Amino acid sequence: MYVDLHIHTCFSDGTQSPEEVAQIAKNQGLSAISICDHNTIAAYERLYIACKSLGLKLIPGAEIDVLWQNKRMHLLAYNFDFTNNAMSELLNSTKHKSGKCYPIEYACKIIRKANGVPIIAHPGVTWHEETDDLSTILESIKSTEIGGIECYYPWNTDDVTEICIDFCKQNNLCITCGCDGHGDENKKYMFDLFGVDYDIGSKKVPISLLNLRGIL
Ligand SMILES: [Zn+2]
Ligand SMILES: [Zn+2]
Repeated sequence: MYVDLHIHTCFSDGTQSPEEVAQIAKNQGLSAISICDHNTIAAYERLYIACKSLGLKLIPGAEIDVLWQNKRMHLLAYNFDFTNNAMSELLNSTKHKSGKCYPIEYACKIIRKANGVPIIAHPGVTWHEETDDLSTILESIKSTEIGGIECYYPWNTDDVTEICIDFCKQNNLCITCGCDGHGDENKKYMFDLFGVDYDIGSKKVPISLLNLRGIL
C-alpha cells in the first residue's frame, strides 16, 4: 500500500485539475492521497467526487506558510475539520502572497484544535543549507507541538531522511511521505534543473515504514 500525501492542483500553483490528479494517483497504484494546496482547500469539493469514483482514499490537507524564528517555512496540515472556523480563518488570512504569516506555534495550535495533525514539510528543502545542524533544529522546534515530519520527500537527501526518521521515532511523531507534484511543466523544470522527480507517487515507500497515526 502506497500513499502520496503532498500534491498540488490548479487551485494553488499546480497545473493539474483535481480530476487529473486523482486519475494519475490511481494509475500510479496509490491507495490514499492528500492534496496540500497552498493555504486553500478549494479543490476538495471536486476531489471528493473524483476520488470516490476511483476508489481512492482522500485525506484532508493543506500547506500553510508559517514563521519559525523569523524564517518562512511550510507546514502541512492533515485530517482537520473543514468546518472549523479558526482553521478556515487561518487558511483565508494566509492565502494571498501579501497574506499573513503566523508563527508555527500558533498554526499548530489552530490545526490541533480542528482535530488535525501539523507536519513539517520538506525539511531537506527548508534547511538545505543547514543539514549539518538539522538534529539541533528539530530538537528546538519540538516544543511547537508539531505532530511529525515529511521524512520521505524527493529532495530530502538520504542523510536528511535518516535524521528525520530517527527524530520521529525517538519522539513518537508521525513519519509521512509526499512528492509535492505540481504538474508536468513544473516536473520537467525541476527534473532538468535538479534531477529530482516530483511526479505524483514517484516515491513509493511501504506504509509499514511510515507512521500515519491520526492521519490515515
Ligand atoms: Zn512547500
Ligand atoms: Zn507543496
